[in-house]
Amino acid sequence: MFHTADPKDIKEGKITDIYFARTIEILKAKKADKWVKAEFITKNLPSGWTWGVLSGIEECVELLNDLKVSVRAMKEGTIFEPLQPVLELEGMYTEFGLYETALLGLICQASGIATKAARCKKLAGERLVISFGARRMHPILAPMIERSAYIGGCDGVAVAKSAELIGEEPMGTMPHALIIILGDTVEALKAFHEVIDPKIKRVALVDTFGDEKFEAIAAAEALGKQLFAVRLDTPSSRRGNFLRILEEVRWELDLRGYEDVKIFVSGGIDEDSIPELNRFVDAYGIGTSISNAPVIDFAMDIIEVEGRPLAKRGKMSGSKRVFRCIKCHADKMIPFQKTATRCECGGMLEEILVPFMKEGRLLDKLPRPKAVREYVLSQMRRLPVPPTAVGKS
Ligand SMILES: [Zn+2]
Repeated sequence: MFHTADPKDIKEGKITDIYFARTIEILKAKKADKWVKAEFITKNLPSGWTWGVLSGIEECVELLNDLKVSVRAMKEGTIFEPLQPVLELEGMYTEFGLYETALLGLICQASGIATKAARCKKLAGERLVISFGARRMHPILAPMIERSAYIGGCDGVAVAKSAELIGEEPMGTMPHALIIILGDTVEALKAFHEVIDPKIKRVALVDTFGDEKFEAIAAAEALGKQLFAVRLDTPSSRRGNFLRILEEVRWELDLRGYEDVKIFVSGGIDEDSIPELNRFVDAYGIGTSISNAPVIDFAMDIIEVEGRPLAKRGKMSGSKRVFRCIKCHADKMIPFQKTATRCECGGMLEEILVPFMKEGRLLDKLPRPKAVREYVLSQMRRLPVPPTAVGKS
């Protein structure tokens, strides 16, 4: 058997820290259940991040949609900052308390992945960024991981099932296995060209047996204009100066009239390497650094009990409104009972923590992943390129 829960287990509240189950048992036995509001916030973001991309809301809706709970939430793909509630639940505590563990699990990991993907895409600019990291994680999570990578800004995903979920074609090149089994890079490329649907772009992997430069030239000469790109997945033990290898491959291809052949790189790519590689790279395959992105430490906290503000030490009590200025994009958070219409800059304020579900019923249709991705990219345009370790030095 696979060591995973199935959706039924999650819906039945079996994926819960046992102390929540015991709390509910006590509240029911003592007839002490109360009407509460609880919010999901993070106090800090990992790795020095200053903003995050919210992901996992659609799955929270899936979990909450049979419960007598009203929900306010930021739309999936909203860029948020620490201390802003991204989700607020309202109802009897025993109606949803059992799901705290699962709800947090749905947004903490997905939002970390979406944020990491957004940072990589911002650094890569117009260059393609493809999610290659499903293989580092449990396969049952691959669709969730790659959906989050895609809505964060990845241009495509590698796994067939993930692509099906987001409604895009999967993207891939060729593995070393094909070249090793056929025994030669050019033979493998020709076989690919002969067998695979012509609408799939031809990308030659050029690091298996020989030097990247000579394999790239051979691939270009074999396929001519039909070669879309060469991929360098050069092992770290052979990289030496990877940037110089890329420069040389670009030079040699250009010299022979293959200016249109793109350069695709993969293997251990992270934020820090993107800025300098951008000079020669047209497409990135990014694996572990996106699929194993740091999680965002959201917590669920009760902030109101029976209509009165009440929260633990270290937490601001009471329900909140979160606004974003449509002109300067600054955010403003105020108590729920108050209203605000204008930013200090004079711009109109738009509420970004909005009613989402009324007693378990969704108020609006959920957007398609492609629309969520476009929403993320539109917000990203106004953000500065994130500083990386390389950028800081
Ligand atoms: Zn403003």
